[in-house]
Amino acid sequence: MHEMGIVIKVVKTVEDFARNNGVTRIDTLVLQIGALSPVIPRYVESCYPMVVKNTRLEDTRLQIDVLPAMARCRACREVFDVLEHKSSCPVCHSGNPEMISGNEFMIKEIVAF
Ligand SMILES: [Zn+2]
Repeated sequence: MHEMGIVIKVVKTVEDFARNNGVTRIDTLVLQIGALSPVIPRYVESCYPMVVKNTRLEDTRLQIDVLPAMARCRACREVFDVLEHKSSCPVCHSGNPEMISGNEFMIKEIVAF
């Protein structure tokens, strides 16, 4: 489970941010994870309480926004969800679309009190 290391890094980043910006109490941490990202949201959720213990983020809420895996057809420019359509364009059925989103992993928002 590589999520643990990732969550540790995220928590460090948020703590640094909070320290540098004088944020003393954080209510919610919002992460954005793409549907094709190797990071699994439920693993992130399950190790989060352990990682934030005794940090500035203890008792914060974790919210994960999952972004759909979207692609644009190179032939007809249609934009579609690749997981739903198995990577082939629902309009002209050509394959090899250009990926637009789905691999993200980022800190979207830090909600302070
Ligand atoms: Zn197409």
